[in-house]
Amino acid sequence: MAAPIRYHVDLADRLHHLVQVTMTVPVELAPGARLVLPVWTPGSYVVRDYARHVQTIAARDARGAALPLHRDGTTAWLLPEEVTGEVTVTWELYANDLSVRTNHVDDHHALLIPAATFLCVDGAEDHPHEVHLPPVPSDHRVFSLLPPGPTADTYLASDRDHLIDSAFEVGALPHVDVELAGVPHTFVWSGHGGAPDLPRIAADLSAISEACRAVFGAQLPTDRYTILCAGWDNGGGGLEHRDGAVLQVPIHTFQDPDLTARFRSLLTHEYLHLWNVKRLVPADLVRPTYDRPTHSESLWVAEGWTAYYDELLPTRAGLWQPRRLLDTLQSTWARTLDTPGVHRQSLRQASHEAWIKHYVRDHNAPNVMTDYYGHGSLVAFELDLRLRAEAPDGDGLDTVFRLLWERHGLDPAGFTEDDVLAAVAAVGGDDLAALVDERVARPGLPELEEVVGAVGLRWHTDDRSASPHLGVHLRESDTEVVLASVLRDGPAWRAGLSGEDRLLAIDGRTVGRGRLSSVLAAFDPGQEVAVTVARGPRLLTRGVTLDPPRPDRRLVRAQAPSAAAGRAFARWCGGELTGIEP
Ligand SMILES: [Zn+2]
Repeated sequence: MAAPIRYHVDLADRLHHLVQVTMTVPVELAPGARLVLPVWTPGSYVVRDYARHVQTIAARDARGAALPLHRDGTTAWLLPEEVTGEVTVTWELYANDLSVRTNHVDDHHALLIPAATFLCVDGAEDHPHEVHLPPVPSDHRVFSLLPPGPTADTYLASDRDHLIDSAFEVGALPHVDVELAGVPHTFVWSGHGGAPDLPRIAADLSAISEACRAVFGAQLPTDRYTILCAGWDNGGGGLEHRDGAVLQVPIHTFQDPDLTARFRSLLTHEYLHLWNVKRLVPADLVRPTYDRPTHSESLWVAEGWTAYYDELLPTRAGLWQPRRLLDTLQSTWARTLDTPGVHRQSLRQASHEAWIKHYVRDHNAPNVMTDYYGHGSLVAFELDLRLRAEAPDGDGLDTVFRLLWERHGLDPAGFTEDDVLAAVAAVGGDDLAALVDERVARPGLPELEEVVGAVGLRWHTDDRSASPHLGVHLRESDTEVVLASVLRDGPAWRAGLSGEDRLLAIDGRTVGRGRLSSVLAAFDPGQEVAVTVARGPRLLTRGVTLDPPRPDRRLVRAQAPSAAAGRAFARWCGGELTGIEP
């Protein structure tokens, strides 16, 4: 068996957000070894240059003598060729950035994201990696996504990717243990302000797990699952790991019904990644290159389908009302319709370019890119509805997902887009597979007008309340209203307004936070209004001709839906179609 690469993590100076890591490189790997700190972490496709948090680094030979370390680019170091014996390398990290992809260490807790923490030895990907992490202070506890190792306070990764895919949390933290389908699950809360309702969270997790297993099969594809959840004053998100997830939610999440509903969706999303992404892996993500981006064209499945099911499964599990599911789908549809970039970038391109577009959005982003989460979920919705239109008593997209899992889950080669299309064809025929290929290969929208009838729904348009359309997205605070984006070919665009212009007045009247639509309501479509903005030091006034209001569209029950459509609705989301208003 290959010799393990060992790490010792020292949290003694956690008050100053400092982490000291010592790596022992075994003798057979040490001469000339290239040590790499990843520049990104799997699941979050942007270069983060974690090496910028390395403050000091030094190498020593087996007798304790200093060894020269040569820098290789910004994120790698080279050991000398002529070393004999094992080598220790020690580095100090600054860890004061709380997110699901970065390290945060203070007097309350320590969240360690392996990609941001551990140097890896190039060419030693298949060696076991052992982490020694004693809790500091000693009454704190370590929660590891890795299984325990051979000695106290150690955790063992079977290979490099296992290490990189397994976060750590340390603290005296509220947590709950629950066994689901014979597999121990742990939820850990590192937010301040006391423990949330842990039994309720365990019950949510149980319902979510059951709904996921109903899609993929009774067996969970892991023997342990740990959720590390941080609460902070704002922000949120999640990151999937091989045997767990890191979540971040607003601190008041469990006191707020809407935030609680979103939390249930986030939990479902990351839990689904146990199958989709972590074990049903896009072929191009099977062997990630940690010192540079690894591109994938399949994020429309990896994230788009996961995003669709993270709304559908909480509904089936009884954690969301069907109305909330419909509200969420219709708002994703409205947002996608209002994104000119869907006509310029395909889902496949959006996936490939995630590194330079999705994760680094600027004010022009809606004009040039589409969102493989939202747009990808709508393509999944369309596919699901078309399958259910053909077979109202079938299981729609579940059947495709299940087939893809059975064919390619746990496959060391992963799956390709052709494999997805083959699974669609096997369930819904070649024409449907060709349609899906078209949806992801070319820019443009899915067709959702008629197909919603498959589950007894229709679109209802309400145009009573809407104001004329300016064609902008806003970023608002108490002190300013900024045109976060000016949508291509819309009224503001045609008048020459730009993203990041600060909106001061319309026809001489100031526009405060939350006031734009009531200010615009005083005008008629086709009318020209004077829009005054500040652009850096310049004050500009442009005449903008307003467009008609964007219709407000809702998913409601169809007039006289068939009995088959009613059954299809129940099989789709677990609710009763009669409970949806006509
Ligand atoms: Zn995801």
